[in-house]
Amino acid sequence: MSAQKVLLHVCCAPDATVPWADLPGEGYEVVPYWYGNNIHPAAEEKRRRDTLAALSLRMGGSVLWEEYVPETWLEAASRLANEPEGGARCALCFRLQLEAAARRASAMKIPLLCTTLTISPHKNAELINSIGAECASQYGVAWLARVFRKENGFVRSVALSKEYGLYRQSYCGCLYSMTRGGNNHGTAARGEASPVAP
Ligand code: SF4
Repeated sequence: MSAQKVLLHVCCAPDATVPWADLPGEGYEVVPYWYGNNIHPAAEEKRRRDTLAALSLRMGGSVLWEEYVPETWLEAASRLANEPEGGARCALCFRLQLEAAARRASAMKIPLLCTTLTISPHKNAELINSIGAECASQYGVAWLARVFRKENGFVRSVALSKEYGLYRQSYCGCLYSMTRGGNNHGTAARGEASPVAP
């Protein structure tokens, strides 16, 4: 039986290492997808995009790229500029990313959608899976719920990123996370400890 295709929304190459390695073992063919419009400035988006391109050479997949149009993200998110990391802006950001990913999956007739976002110990995996399921349903695809940080997933991703020489960013991505500092992976998972400082 041929593997079922899953569009894997990739938030950054380091976070993709483990999902991309593990999903084929579950019988899925990974089709990686890059959104990027939440990343600021353009040079940083290009650096992260290039890092994913390098990872795809190693993993043997072909990435589906979105054109970089950050204004689309800023228009929607700027009204929540003063939200702290882990607040409403991050929830909206997840939705913007996963809606775009679901739209692409539907257009490409890829039946399943998943995201690398849940590998971070700093993000709320339950919220991400809930938003992902809504976005997938909106576009007629199925949501593959995963919490990739489980079973040492995050620790493995740090080790693999180091082994592959991947660039690891020092802030989550948007203008607000860049200028205010904070963790490098966005939304805090309340009540969950961070096992390793990224
Ligand atoms: S901190 Fe990260 S998750 Fe939150 S809005 Fe910015 S880029 Fe998105």
